Amino acid sequence: MENILTTTNISKSYGPVKALNNLNIEVPKGSIFGILGPNGSGKTTTLSILLDVLKPDTGTYCWFNNPNDIYYRKKIGTLLETPNFYHYLSAKDNLKITEAISGRGNEADIDKAIAMVGLHTRKHDKFSTYSLGMKQRLAIGAALLGNADVLVLDEPTNGLDPVGIVEIRNLIKQLGEQGKTIIMASHLLDEVEKVCTHFCILKHGNLLISGPVKEILRNEDILVIETENMAALQQLLTTLPHFIELKQQKSFCEIYFKSNSISPAEFNAYCFNNGIVLSHLEVKTKSLEEKFFELTEN
Ligand code: ADP
Ligand code: MG
Repeated sequence: MENILTTTNISKSYGPVKALNNLNIEVPKGSIFGILGPNGSGKTTTLSILLDVLKPDTGTYCWFNNPNDIYYRKKIGTLLETPNFYHYLSAKDNLKITEAISGRGNEADIDKAIAMVGLHTRKHDKFSTYSLGMKQRLAIGAALLGNADVLVLDEPTNGLDPVGIVEIRNLIKQLGEQGKTIIMASHLLDEVEKVCTHFCILKHGNLLISGPVKEILRNEDILVIETENMAALQQLLTTLPHFIELKQQKSFCEIYFKSNSISPAEFNAYCFNNGIVLSHLEVKTKSLEEKFFELTEN
């Protein structure tokens, strides 16, 4: 897959605080890429560097696979801080002002951006009459001006009510389906799991892990086992309600269960009590919560 962004060994310190330590990430084109980490882990620092708001101490990054692309910033819409919209103006008039100040987009883009964030029926209403979710949708609309290919959003659901959070998550997914690449910071594992296709985890400025959500955050426990009696085992598995699937490898097999549904010891005992002896039993992956906790604790 083509990458839209590659970073190479980016580091940044604020005095004694090492905010980022040799960050290497690759963001595939068309992905919704989550930068996940607790407060202070370096998410905003990362986004600020990628948008040229902040200079890294060392390291480089490349957008659109082209280090010489001087127009790359025009293709990137950003939402780092909540924009200051005028409360007594409509969505449309607010975006006209944003357009005039930022130089991004034109009149036609404004209507398109408003439609993309689902505010077309309310575009002439005053900003002050909008719900929190609608206000944030307009902020994302502002980032879309000029038909940006990439959106960079810093904690886009922060400060919203539960309804607004759902609205914004759905909007981000929709924009992703329309082909935008979205890079978003979040401190919520659950959010990244729900919204993102790819993600990385930062902890104290260090990259812990990076890759597709589906591969890293499998909500399943996997037991790797060996037995002489495969046929009986297959039969037995069908009686376990939390069994998902069995993958036969060469000499062993992998059994997928819903996470936290059965412990290895329980499984072993269950097999033994049904006349199946396991010659090997090993936990392959842990559930997502456990994994995240392990990755981010301390
Ligand atoms: P996050 O967005 O993940 O919460 P930040 O990138 O804002 O993390 O911060 C990373 C670290 O850098 C934190 O320890 C934070 O206190 C520190 N930091 C961020 N900005 C500044 C600054 N302007 N001056 C000094 N330290 C800063
Ligand atoms: Mg931040």
